[in-house]
Amino acid sequence: MKIKCTCGEIIPDQTDYLSYKAYVIGDKNYFDFLDAVDEAIEKKEEDREKLRNSVRRAETSRLAWECSTCGKLYLDDAKGNLIAYRPENGKANRFFDRQRSKEND
Ligand SMILES: [Zn+2]
Repeated sequence: MKIKCTCGEIIPDQTDYLSYKAYVIGDKNYFDFLDAVDEAIEKKEEDREKLRNSVRRAETSRLAWECSTCGKLYLDDAKGNLIAYRPENGKANRFFDRQRSKEND
């Protein structure tokens, strides 16, 4: 998949671990997802694949991409359409490209 930004930049999405791509999850869905993770951890179910699949089904994020040139955000809506948001500073802010803190490992 490639997104053609209105500034002319091409935003490719053909691999994993992209620094300009994110999975956005709403506050309500986030807590439902955490509940599903907790439930899977606490279950006595021995079928690990079944547990993994139930957690993955509970994940309800939407995809988002940031243009590395103009900073415009493209978010996937529920119907698979791209909705664009333009930052007021008009530049790429790279907030999806955070380094993991060693304290969180
Ligand atoms: Zn752009």
